Amino acid sequence: MVDLNGQYRKIRWQVNREIKKVIKSSSFINGPSVKEFQNNLQNFLGIRHVIPCANGTDALQVALMSLELNKGDEVITTNFSFASTIEVILLLGLKPVVVDIDPKTFNINPNLIKDKISEKTKAIIPVHLFGQTCKMEEILEIANKHNLFVIEDNAQALGSKYKFSSSEKQMAGTIGDISTTSFFPSKNLGCYGDGGAIMTNSDNLAYKIRGLVNHGMYERYYHDEVGVNSRLDSIQAAILNVKLKCLNKYNNSRQESAKLYNDKFDKIELLETPFVESDLDTHVYHQYTLKVKNGMRDKLAEHLSKNNIPFGIYYPLGFHEQKAYKQEFMSDNDFPVTNQVKNEVISLPMHTELSKRQITYITDTISSFFE
Ligand SMILES: *Cc1c(COP(=O)(O)O)cnc(C)c1O
Repeated sequence: MVDLNGQYRKIRWQVNREIKKVIKSSSFINGPSVKEFQNNLQNFLGIRHVIPCANGTDALQVALMSLELNKGDEVITTNFSFASTIEVILLLGLKPVVVDIDPKTFNINPNLIKDKISEKTKAIIPVHLFGQTCKMEEILEIANKHNLFVIEDNAQALGSKYKFSSSEKQMAGTIGDISTTSFFPSKNLGCYGDGGAIMTNSDNLAYKIRGLVNHGMYERYYHDEVGVNSRLDSIQAAILNVKLKCLNKYNNSRQESAKLYNDKFDKIELLETPFVESDLDTHVYHQYTLKVKNGMRDKLAEHLSKNNIPFGIYYPLGFHEQKAYKQEFMSDNDFPVTNQVKNEVISLPMHTELSKRQITYITDTISSFFE
C-alpha cells in the first residue's frame, strides 16, 4: 500500500544528516528541531500556532480538553472514520452524536448535522476523509449559528485546500477553531514513528493547549490542571523538517497517480472512481478509494490478492456497529449510507513512489476482472 523505503532512498542524505545532528546535540526532547518544525508547519499552513504532540489521537484528545466541556456535553462527528475520532469523545466522558455520510465523498453530511443539535451540543469534529476536506462552509454556518466549536480532524488531508463558494481557497486544518493531524508513517506527511500536532489561530487556545500537552504545567512544576504528557520527539521533528519540504511534491504525485487510475477505471461500469468536490488540489488522496457496485467488492478483493496487489478496506464498519461503541447508538436506521458504502469501498495502493508500470499492472489486473 505504501513504499516508505523507496521514498527514504531519495532523501536519505538529508534525513541521516538531520538525525545525526539531533543525536550529537543529545537534545532528544524539545530540541531545536521541534521548534523549527513548529515554525515550518505554521508557515506551510499559514496558521498562528502549531503545537506538536505525540500522535494524532492525543492531538484530538487535547483539542477537546482545551474546550473545557462538561461531562455529558455532546460532540457531533461522522460515523465513518478511524476510531480515534469517537474514542477521544468517549474517553473524556462526552457524548458522541454521530451523523451519516455523503455517499460520494464519504465525509460527514452537513444536512444531517442540523437535526442532531441540542442544548447540550458544544462541538463538531468533521474528518477530512481520504484526503478531501469536508463541506466546511456549510459546517461553519451551522457552528456559527449555534455557537459550536469546530475541530477539524486533518490526519488524512494535510496540504489539501478547501474551496469556498466565493472561489477563495483555504488550507485544510486552518478553517475550524482547532485542527489536529497525525504524522503516522503512512500519512501524507509521515515521520519514522509516531507524531502529531494541534493547530489553531487562537492565542488563548494555543496557550491552553501548550500547557495541557505538558502535564497542565504553565510554570515549571506548578500544575494548574490535569494534563497529559504528549510530545513530538526531536528525531521525529528532524525527519519531518526534511519531509515537509517535499509535501507539495508528494501530494502532486499522489494526484498524478489518481488521474492515471481514473483514466482506466472511469471506463468500467461497475466501478465508481473517487468523487472530487472541487478542483484537483482540494483532494490529496491519502487513500484512493473506489466503490465497487453489484456486490462485487469481495470478489475483486480476492482477485487482487491472487495477483499480489495489496488493498485496504477503509472502513469495514461504521462506528454504530463497532463492539466498543455500539451501545452509544439508539438505532442502526440512522446510517443507511454507511451501511451501503462499507460493503462497496476498496482502497488501492497509493503513495509517492508509485510507478507508471505498477499502476498499469494494477489497472490491467482490475480491467481483466471486469471483462
Ligand atoms: C491516523 C488517524 C488518526 C490518528 O492518528 P495516530 O497518530 O495514529 O494517533 C486520527 N484520525 C484519523 C482520521 C486518522 O486517519
